[in-house]
Amino acid sequence: MKSTKQTSGGVTSAADPIAMDAHRTRERLKMMERQNPLRERAHSGDNTPWADSLEEPQDDMAKNEYLAARELLVARLKTLSRAEEKVREGTYGSCDSCGKQIPAGRLRAVPGAVRCVRCAERLERDDAAGRQRLWLGDYQLAAA
Ligand SMILES: [Zn+2]
Repeated sequence: MKSTKQTSGGVTSAADPIAMDAHRTRERLKMMERQNPLRERAHSGDNTPWADSLEEPQDDMAKNEYLAARELLVARLKTLSRAEEKVREGTYGSCDSCGKQIPAGRLRAVPGAVRCVRCAERLERDDAAGRQRLWLGDYQLAAA
């Protein structure tokens, strides 16, 4: 199948769910920005968001939750825009890490997938481990 002359709205069938997902994710990010606990903090005088994080552990937790959730959305957006790129490149459906074909079932379930399950899981594990180290570092810092 060749992509013939198409208007900017005419994308391949794979790109549609990706674009929709990206749109939804952006909307969620925007919503989050509006509820941003860091911004509220900034309004109440101090505009360095971390200034009093040690005095208000509960607040700190809300911040961390917010940042973690936001980070997830941003990471997802990144993956989605990479998936859109792959559609344009014509490499959509092949794993970005190992180059193998991503099973059709996975692509149907996760249209924005840019990696096969194995590579995605490995990456997630590495990511989680990295984050844990970061958190541990935080605690050590707080305890010191
Ligand atoms: Zn792979």
